[in-house]
Amino acid sequence: MPLRRADSPSIATIPTLSFSFQIDSRVGAARAGRLTTPHGVVETPVFMPVGTVASVKGVAQDILEELGVQILLGNTYHLYLRPGVEQVRQLGGLHCFMAWPGAILTDSGGFQVFSLNELRKVNEEGVTFRSHLDGSPHFFSPESAMAAQIGLGADIIMAFDECTEYPADGERARHSMELTLRWAARGKKYLEDHKQEVPWQAVSGFQFPVSGNAKTGNQKPETGNCDATQALFGIVQGGMDAALRKESAERTIEIGFPGYAIGGLSVGEPRALTREIVEATLQHLPADKPRYLMGVGTPEEIVEYANSGVDMMDCVLPTRAARHGLLFTSEGKISIKQARFAADPGPPDPNCGCRVCRRYSRAYLRHLYAANEVLAQVLNTVHNLSFYLDTMRAVRHSIALGSKAQLLSGEQSGVKP
Ligand SMILES: [Zn+2]
Repeated sequence: MPLRRADSPSIATIPTLSFSFQIDSRVGAARAGRLTTPHGVVETPVFMPVGTVASVKGVAQDILEELGVQILLGNTYHLYLRPGVEQVRQLGGLHCFMAWPGAILTDSGGFQVFSLNELRKVNEEGVTFRSHLDGSPHFFSPESAMAAQIGLGADIIMAFDECTEYPADGERARHSMELTLRWAARGKKYLEDHKQEVPWQAVSGFQFPVSGNAKTGNQKPETGNCDATQALFGIVQGGMDAALRKESAERTIEIGFPGYAIGGLSVGEPRALTREIVEATLQHLPADKPRYLMGVGTPEEIVEYANSGVDMMDCVLPTRAARHGLLFTSEGKISIKQARFAADPGPPDPNCGCRVCRRYSRAYLRHLYAANEVLAQVLNTVHNLSFYLDTMRAVRHSIALGSKAQLLSGEQSGVKP
């Protein structure tokens, strides 16, 4: 029974490609390349929009495709609570459920559970926590977090880690790092034993509507390939201690993963320290594997980290800021709710070619925000995502041409998420 009307030419959902990473050009530490996933090719360095509950808030999937999004991030913690992993699994996994044929990455839930503070308890086995929705008790272990991510069926899944809080003393940071290493090995083992359970081929008859992605030429699956499996990334922890970060990187690499993430940052530490720890960690990661810096950053920061050799980044900043009326533009960030824009007929960003800037004025966006119209959130989000994606496109272009990437704007203006 098809889940969707197939009244237009359509494509099958069965993945064709195995996971691989290829670097095409380098400038200094920066690299531009291609991450091949079972659901398409992702050009790197890449910024991944956050779709917490299988939705980038306010933006429909066809618009994400138009913006050139090749990979989305989903949050296991939120999807586990609602609608539930089993529900998504029975509907063929996240790709089918949310009608997104491109690549998806899910986090392990570790960071969200960490954020619950008062509501969690950690031991060797895993983490007991209470739902932020209704207070109900739940338990995540390295194995159950893996089972949840297999059920959700993202292309890239993350090891269940303990995000070390900031500040943490040396003993605490080491203890936490050791726990994350033991959990990484358990998670890897679980995936090896259960990798065939991914629901990519479970729903017969489901078909995506064809939606061209002219900007990026997203590769879409055509025929089945039973060899395609999920790629599990390890996560480097170690708090704000460069020596511990080095040890965490080396021992995570020993366990062996197809990609490595730098976790435990943007947890309240000063931005300068974040940069320092990123640099200290990057130099110990393998050159031929993708490197994912979790939870950063401003447009300036994503350019800077790409120049440092980071391949993948995600952040709620462009989408969350948009909902609060904050726009990132080539002329710096602006707060569209300010009265000075009430009669401004100009586009939100004169140098942006997105569908919002081509059509609407600052005055109109300011009015929508003041009137509390849903469309304000939608349009602001579309522009901010477009700005971030254009920024990364320019970064990739610069690297391909052999020059160091620069921010689209001349203005350097940081903003905290
Ligand atoms: Zn725009």
